Parts: sequence; C-alpha cells; structure tokens
Amino acid sequence: MAETRIVIIGGSIAGLSAAEAARAQDPGCAITLLTEDPHLPYYRQRQCEVLEDRAAAQKLVIHPKEWYTIRGISLRLGQAVTGIDTQERAVALKDGSRLPYDRLVLATGSASVVPPIQGADLPGVETLWTMEDALRIESRLKDARRAIVIGGGLLGLEAAYAFHKRGIDNAILERLPRLMMRQLDERAAELFTRQVEKEGSEVTTGASVAEIYADRAGRAAGVRLADGSQHPADLVLISAGVRARTEILSGSGVAFDRFIQVDQRMRTNVPDVYAAGDCASLDGRWYGLWMVARGQGEAAGHNAAGGQRAYAAKTPPYMVNTMGTHIASAGLTQQEGMTSDEIARAYADVMENSEMFQYAKKLYLNEHLAGFILLGDTRAFSSLNKELAIGGTA
Ligand SMILES: Cc1cc2nc3c(=O)[nH]c(=O)nc-3n(C[C@H](O)[C@H](O)[C@H](O)COP(=O)(O)OP(=O)(O)OC[C@H]3O[C@@H](n4cnc5c(N)ncnc54)[C@H](O)[C@@H]3O)c2cc1C
Repeated sequence: MAETRIVIIGGSIAGLSAAEAARAQDPGCAITLLTEDPHLPYYRQRQCEVLEDRAAAQKLVIHPKEWYTIRGISLRLGQAVTGIDTQERAVALKDGSRLPYDRLVLATGSASVVPPIQGADLPGVETLWTMEDALRIESRLKDARRAIVIGGGLLGLEAAYAFHKRGIDNAILERLPRLMMRQLDERAAELFTRQVEKEGSEVTTGASVAEIYADRAGRAAGVRLADGSQHPADLVLISAGVRARTEILSGSGVAFDRFIQVDQRMRTNVPDVYAAGDCASLDGRWYGLWMVARGQGEAAGHNAAGGQRAYAAKTPPYMVNTMGTHIASAGLTQQEGMTSDEIARAYADVMENSEMFQYAKKLYLNEHLAGFILLGDTRAFSSLNKELAIGGTA
C-alpha cells in the first residue's frame, strides 16, 4: 500500500507538534512540514530575549536540522503556501508548484493586528510576531532613545521590559482601564502597575490613540492621544492583538470565521483536513497560548496519521514572568464575567503586601476554590491549581 502523504502548513509549535505526533503514530507515512518562515522552528514566546540580546536567537531554536532528518520529516523553510485545493487534494506554493496530500494539517497561526491608526504605516512603527520582526527591531535599538508600546498585554509588557533592560526609556499605552484586565482584578492590577513603573516603564491606561505623528524626515516621532497629550518616541511598537492566518482558505471549502472551526479531534468540516493552534477555535474557544497550540498540534498530527485522539479543551492557567515579578491566575478571579448567581455565592480570601507588590486572592464558590490570582509570590500555584482541577472549575 502507498504511504500516506501528510502535509502540514505552519512550522511553529502547532505544526511541529503535529509532525512529531504523526511520526509517532505512523512510522511509515510521508510528512512534509511547510513554513514561510526562513528560520528553523523556534520558541516564539521567548522572542523578547532577542530584543535584549541578538545572540539569543540561536538559543531559541527548538530542534537542529538533523532532528527532522532523523525522523523523516521533510522540513521546507521559506515555502509560502498561497492556496489549497481540497477537491484535488493539493496545496499551491508561491513558487508555482503544487504538492499533493492525503491528509492536511493547517497550523498557520497568527499575525499581528495593526489597527487603523493614522501613521501606523510610518517608518519606525513596528509589530512583533516573527523572528525577523525581533531581529529587525533589535537592530534599531542601538539608535533608539525612547520607545512607545501601544498595547499593555503580555507581549507589550515583555517588549517594554526588554527595552528597559537595553536602557531605552519607554511608555506603555493601554486602551483598557487597567493592565492585564482578564487576568488581574482591580487591586492586583494596581499593584502590578506600580511594579511596572518601578521597573522603568510609564503606564497610561484608558489611552485612546489618535495618531502616530511623523518628524520632518517622515519617520514616526511619537503618539498623540485623543486627549491631546503627546508621547514622543523614535520607536513605536504596536502590540494590539493578533488575527488568525486564514487567508489561504478562500474558496477551499474549509469553514472559518475569525478562526478555523474544529471539533475535539481537530477535524475541520472538510474530510482529511485538520487545523490546530492559534489559527483554530474549538467549540468557539480560542486561547492564543503556546501550550494549547502544542496540545492541539499533537492531537491533529496523531489523527492525521490514523489515530483517534480528542483534545481536552480546558482553560489553561495563566503564568507570566515579566517586569521583575511573577503572575499566575486561573479560573474565576473577579466579578467581571461571573453570573449574578455566582456573585451571590462567591467568597474571596485576599492577602496583600503592598510594599512588596504582592497579592494573593483565592475565590471560592460555596466551599470550592473557583479561581485564584497570585502576584509576586507564585509558590502556591501548583497546589492551588491542583485544588482547582479537583473542583473541576478550571
Ligand atoms: C513575543 C511573544 C511572546 C509570547 N508569549 C507567550 C507566553 O508567554 N505564553 C504563551 O502561552 N504564549 C505566548 N505567545 C503566543 C504563542 O507564541 C502562540 O500562541 C504560539 O506561537 C501559536 O503557535 P502556532 O503554531 O499555532 O502559530 P504561530 O506560532 O503563529 O506559527 C504559525 C506558522 O505558520 C506559518 N505560516 C502561516 N501562514 C503560512 C503560509 N501561507 N504558508 C506557509 N507557512 C505559513 C508561519 O510562518 C509560522 O511558522 C507569545 C507570542 C509572541 C510573539
């Protein structure tokens, strides 16, 4: 019998995990891993290390080239896919060639969103998603004196911290009323913001960006807010979220809205086409997290190679180490997002050391732990997460 041809589009953690799982499930199948990125798959979530030190790019490579050769995984770097033909079962590559498949895994991930801000296309305005982005931004840092980060999510915070470590003054402009709104309650966000400011970043919340203005040479020179205030900068990083890469799916018959819809076995609506990671949503849920992309990629690859694995969709805990502190949060942590019945039954156990910017909150529904926030000291994470898992609310 002819070997099964598995083609995977996307060479980051979802695609790589799919390739590894497919090989484990079927030692005889042919696996091709296509990625438009010219770099060997790397730990994308650690890219801010490259902003601190260019040499870190080497350390972020997940596996050397031989790893793929030994496993019979044909890794094709710098290969952009332009479309897929699910009738003929082939993918079209930018160089004009076509590659036939028996099973296809879509692991095309995310790209940075650039909101429609006037001046967002000026030279000196950056986004950060790929290694090329990180290397390009790093090469500009030696001449930069002040940076503005638009967006105070995790990526924006990590970038601002890297700028600070490089000795570059920086400010974070966050549209929402507080930092890390989904993960931290009001008090924890207040303490965390003080920690961020202690680490050298100015923070403006509720910031509505009106425009990125230019200098006489036509380069970005700063950000003006709707309240008229101006924030000068010679580097502006937009970190305003991501969108799923679905552009190759037009006309393919694969169902997608903002994301590709998959079931628990990571199957799309088209037979033998799977999707995993940041490009996919399962039961309407999307996380944008490394570990989720890895787990979904494993399930997709296993199933593409003939297995029957379901991905257990469970909201993962949130863990962050940045700005000289640690944050862990999981489950229900604040009234926002709770039903009125839950609010009535909720009880919070809070401990705080404001001088150390430390905060621990355990939220109970009846007698059961429903969620927690740990800021500063996260040593209780494992036991609380275990308690939460037993309670079944995570
Ligand atoms: C700076 C930074 C910090 C982060 N920090 C964290 C963190 O602390 N914790 C966390 O959980 N997550 C973090 N993330 C998010 C995490 O990296 C993503 O959730 C994860 O990378 C998603 O993996 P993926 O494989 O689904 O997609 P991606 O990593 O986006 O990879 C998609 C791949 O598909 C390829 N591709 C796309 N379209 C095509 C095409 N048409 N043809 C060929 N190839 C294509 C791309 O080149 C790429 O190789 C961070 C991300 C960044 C950028």
